[in-house]
Amino acid sequence: MKIIMLGAPGAGKGTQAKMIADKYGVPHISTGDIFRANIKNGTELGVEAKKYMDQGLLVPDELTVKLLLDRVANEDCKNGYVLDGFPRTIPQAEVLEKALNEINDKIDYAIDIDVPDENIINRMSGRRACLACGATYHIEHVPPKKEGICDRCGKELVLRDDDKPETVKKRLNVYHEQTQPLIDFYTNKGILKTVDGTVDMKDVFQSVVNILGE
Ligand code: ADP
Ligand code: ADP
Ligand code: ZN
Repeated sequence: MKIIMLGAPGAGKGTQAKMIADKYGVPHISTGDIFRANIKNGTELGVEAKKYMDQGLLVPDELTVKLLLDRVANEDCKNGYVLDGFPRTIPQAEVLEKALNEINDKIDYAIDIDVPDENIINRMSGRRACLACGATYHIEHVPPKKEGICDRCGKELVLRDDDKPETVKKRLNVYHEQTQPLIDFYTNKGILKTVDGTVDMKDVFQSVVNILGE
């Protein structure tokens, strides 16, 4: 089962992708998490990616595509995966399609989590992230058991630099310009499914399960 999660920044892609990964036993692949791990480890890729991420801009396709194609070629992706944050541009989607075509494969579902812009700014300012394990929380909706500490790994939670309101507005513009066209792209391929992302995360997940099957 190969799944793409679409949706604005903060729509809940990561939250739902983790639940999908747990239930269906496929790896959760987040390009944002991979970039943040590289930044944390001070790699060359991390240094380059950070320049764009801090400004709310997309990391150039040249840096992103190879990273993703290498990742999905891994042994653990044999039976599928859930992509969170990739593709984000039409060229990225085309490269992925071509690479899958070459091995007689394809994406099964593109799930768009629909959340209006008005809800996004509030969600992002309340988001807290664990840079060690990739878990995300929300100070009101999904609080950790102990304030500021990750339930999963015990490390400190942070407000991401790019989750500050000014940067979120910019990321939303970038989303509408560069990523939203993917909704038409996957509609035309006949694999787009839309779920209402404004309801409780458990109810969002139920809609996802209705699409993917029990
Ligand atoms: P969110 O889940 O809030 O949308 P992500 O963690 O997916 O944020 O991405 C954070 C940032 O990482 C993006 O704003 C962008 O700069 C960069 N990024 C992640 N995935 C991609 C991608 N596929 N193409 C280009 N840039 C990306
Ligand atoms: P994305 O990966 O699309 O950027 P996240 O999964 O990180 O989004 O979610 C963004 C923020 O909103 C996080 O703080 C998360 O805990 C919270 N969140 C996710 N789903 C919901 C929901 N259905 N209702 C309210 N808050 C949510
Ligand atoms: Zn953690």
